[in-house]
Amino acid sequence: MAGIVACRGEIRCDRGRLVACQSSGGRINVVFGASDSVAPSQVKRLVELVRETDSLRRFPRRYIGSRPITISLIARERQGIEAAAYGEERTIVLPLEAALAWRTEDLRSLLRHELTHIALAGGRTSFQLPKWFQEGFAEWTAGGLTCQGAARIRVNMLLRPEFLKDTSMFKEPAFAASRVGYDVFSTFFEFLEERSTGVNLSLLDSLDAYGLENGIRRATRADLPTLQREWRIYAMRRYSDLREQQACQSRPIPSTR
Ligand SMILES: [Zn+2]
Repeated sequence: MAGIVACRGEIRCDRGRLVACQSSGGRINVVFGASDSVAPSQVKRLVELVRETDSLRRFPRRYIGSRPITISLIARERQGIEAAAYGEERTIVLPLEAALAWRTEDLRSLLRHELTHIALAGGRTSFQLPKWFQEGFAEWTAGGLTCQGAARIRVNMLLRPEFLKDTSMFKEPAFAASRVGYDVFSTFFEFLEERSTGVNLSLLDSLDAYGLENGIRRATRADLPTLQREWRIYAMRRYSDLREQQACQSRPIPSTR
């Protein structure tokens, strides 16, 4: 991978080393291999999509912090994973070929998901958030449940009587790492927000100050087991009927981590 060089001002290309600078809110570095071909306009698109977080209603940039963020474009895809974030390192890894070919709206939602992991990694040293929280929250900030996601939940509820039967899935990291797990847990944050508008962002602040369980209690005025039970009833009611499923545009959805 190419090294990172500091710069001021505009995006600059330097034989495989490419750095983009931001005037406010911290620098964004885009790095890729010296032999890979990436056009400045493609880097500009990535940087502008990250920069958009400034104006996201759902997720203001202050949660992401001002230290540099690195987007690392890796030429060879890791099987089954199309993106990953390393929160402590503030690095987002994207498969180069796919990242440059994705539609802007897909790339935007993917970057928002990964930026959320960076935000969730900041400020918290004493505990790690459980997988269900990290992925559900990241999906929620990325735009929430998609049409395809709703279809996956409805189909699972139809095929598997035990699906959402209880709240045991919160204790299963493997489920939280699955595609339908992302969908399911994003509806937990959808539920919290419907229960009390704006609560998800205040949750971020109280998590840092009070930890997971106390932070949730302070932000929502309910304890986690109670919320999980209420959510399960909400999700079953909202997503149990396949007849309410709308037809979705058929397109592959980038998978994330
Ligand atoms: Zn993720």
